[in-house]
Amino acid sequence: MPSYTIHHQPLINKLLPLIIFLISTCQIQAQKIRPDAFPPALDPAPKALKMATSVDELKSWNSYPTYQVYVETMQQFADSYPDLCRLDTIGTSLQGRLILCLAIHGNKHSEESKPEFFYSSTMHGDEVTGYYLMIRLCDSLLNSYGTAADITDLIDHVDIYINPLSNPDGTYHGGNHTVAGAIRYNSNYVDLNRNYPDPFGTDPLDTIQLENQEMIAYVQNHHFLLSANLHGGSEVMNYPWDSFTSRQRVNEDADWWKAVGKRFVDTCRLVNSRRFTDVNSTGVINGGDWYVISNGRQDYFNYYCNIRELTMELSSTKTVSTNQLDSYWRCESHALINYIKEIFTITDTTTTLSISSFDQSSPIIAYPNPTHGPVTVVTPAGKHLFNLADRPVGIYVITVDGKPIKVVKY
Ligand SMILES: [Zn+2]
Repeated sequence: MPSYTIHHQPLINKLLPLIIFLISTCQIQAQKIRPDAFPPALDPAPKALKMATSVDELKSWNSYPTYQVYVETMQQFADSYPDLCRLDTIGTSLQGRLILCLAIHGNKHSEESKPEFFYSSTMHGDEVTGYYLMIRLCDSLLNSYGTAADITDLIDHVDIYINPLSNPDGTYHGGNHTVAGAIRYNSNYVDLNRNYPDPFGTDPLDTIQLENQEMIAYVQNHHFLLSANLHGGSEVMNYPWDSFTSRQRVNEDADWWKAVGKRFVDTCRLVNSRRFTDVNSTGVINGGDWYVISNGRQDYFNYYCNIRELTMELSSTKTVSTNQLDSYWRCESHALINYIKEIFTITDTTTTLSISSFDQSSPIIAYPNPTHGPVTVVTPAGKHLFNLADRPVGIYVITVDGKPIKVVKY
């Protein structure tokens, strides 16, 4: 007869394997970084990276520009359409390359009277799909003005600023003639999207890099209402906050962001139903629910600059083969144009005070500082006091002497 004894096993011993599993899982969670921080996946076939060596060649739209061709192309937009646009220089990179922005204002209204929109791409130098798409968007908008009624109307009512390349040293790390050696970082090997002042946490590890200092100065000299920051490595619309999960802190405009993101994704899926599915099924996510990061641009823009900024991850591959670029344009160009139009939906969902209205013929003035409650506006007609203390966190538009003023309550 077999004999056996039963040992009393303390509960802790029974639970130990489970505890070890949970701890190891948590460590893995904590150590994970966003997929867009990983090196690009190896393509099974050699990557085709055709470089355009002339503006005309670039406008066949099956290549990336050399640095020189990029600068010439942006200059040519301004030279060819002087009544519709001008070329701004946001700044100069550490290695002396230009950080350019095409300001498309149309010729119907003065620039001072329209809301401002901002597209900015490729702060991670190897995520170049947005770089290509933004140059092509400039070309398409300018070509369509006066011929396509919807584009003409859009440009007549919104000042559109397009910065195709915010980290040129990263993109041309392999030399001005190629994007083949592109890296994520700037020339100091700093990740520019972990290098903005953090409204909720600590200062970035590295001093704020020149490229970011210049970007901050540029946006602070404008009144952008809506913007997007274009990336690659995944396909998803990533809305604020990046610093928190939605359980920790819900963005006041989360419902608006979800609707905006869904419209973008749905538009792309009209062309290809498989797009924007590699992070989740909706293609839209609260940034922190994906992965929490600190010192990102999105939270800085939303919190400190009164700008609604969305992080758009536009291609699962960071450096898309040039023979595929046109298909990305065909799939995403309508959504990119429609996203600009979302500027007109902002105040529809913003909690408003008194007689707030979005008057397209009037400038929206940004109240200089975010507030916990009190707002004082001084005009020639007198002093106007508002108190947002009992209002939820968010963006408000108050109207004083007929002028809408945007206020951020935090
Ligand atoms: Zn990125």
